Amino acid sequence: MRADIDLDIGRKTFASGLLPELIAVVRRSRPGDLVAVIGDHDGVGPELETWCRFTGNPLLEATVEKGRSRWVFRCGAVPVRAQDDNKDNRPVGSRLWLYTNFDCNLHCDYCCVRSSPNAPRRELGLTRVQRIAREAAELGVKEIFVTGGEPFLLEDIGEILLSCAAAAPTTVLTNGMLFTGRRAESLRALPRGRIVLQISLDSATPELHDLHRGPGAWARTREGIQRARALGFRVRLAATVSTDAEAEAFGQFLDEEKIAAEDRVIRRIALRGVASEGVALSRADLVPEVTITAEGVYWHPVGAEDADLLVTRDIFPLAESFAAVRRAFDREGEHANKLAKIFNCA
Ligand code: SF4
Repeated sequence: MRADIDLDIGRKTFASGLLPELIAVVRRSRPGDLVAVIGDHDGVGPELETWCRFTGNPLLEATVEKGRSRWVFRCGAVPVRAQDDNKDNRPVGSRLWLYTNFDCNLHCDYCCVRSSPNAPRRELGLTRVQRIAREAAELGVKEIFVTGGEPFLLEDIGEILLSCAAAAPTTVLTNGMLFTGRRAESLRALPRGRIVLQISLDSATPELHDLHRGPGAWARTREGIQRARALGFRVRLAATVSTDAEAEAFGQFLDEEKIAAEDRVIRRIALRGVASEGVALSRADLVPEVTITAEGVYWHPVGAEDADLLVTRDIFPLAESFAAVRRAFDREGEHANKLAKIFNCA
């Protein structure tokens, strides 16, 4: 992860002068700046993590590069807030995300899970999805989101979506470019009242969308949107943007297209996966939304292959993996309460 400021601390620790250096670097930073602390003393890690928590400068990454430890933290709170759809009030476990495959027909330059035509397929598989759907229904899951990479690359995506839709209303995230041939047949067989298509469209005209997603992508996605609507599906349009100006321009386009508020998603690029710019998010910034991939259960879909967001490798029983996410969420809450007590000023 790139940083705005590099702080080389050599062999310094909190016992030998690291704290003043951290305070100084935070003072000369702007909110949202990323600071990389590079050092040669392994023992600094846990103390630095505690300092980050207690000072509200979230630790985003810890790596070892060329034999040296490197930690990246963000100065202050997340600079922009993702679209607020009352997510803070949603109970953990009411929304479930499934990553079905990870490979994709596109190679977007901001993909938060590094999907592409070259990404190896890591398939959740129909049998596991069917079990997840059964157990999710018993656990009272209210909504299921299915994402890929591109889910419509899968031969059995129709059956996968049918099992999900039998358990809860299901939204499938797609780039909308593959609704032809047998994939159109899969689509045709799905229940319109239980399945929503969330199609990624980043801009009103091709330039910006194609800049991130590849030449010709915008036109094919627009065709896909028309096809999905013609088949009677509810379509949500989801844009990933870099700036407020891009968000505003897309909002105007949605107004012109008379897209209902509940069928709009506008979010910022997250600094995850292959993105080189974007909003740097830590676990503490994200209210958990249980996310299952072939590799295990993650805290949130935005980093569904990143070690810091992995909760457990064990998917089943689903009740236990949900409980693991809730326990992790409670631990985050305990840290916040501890912080409130330490800095209780009155
Ligand atoms: S952002 Fe979506 S469409 Fe683009 S590579 Fe990633 S999964 Fe594929």
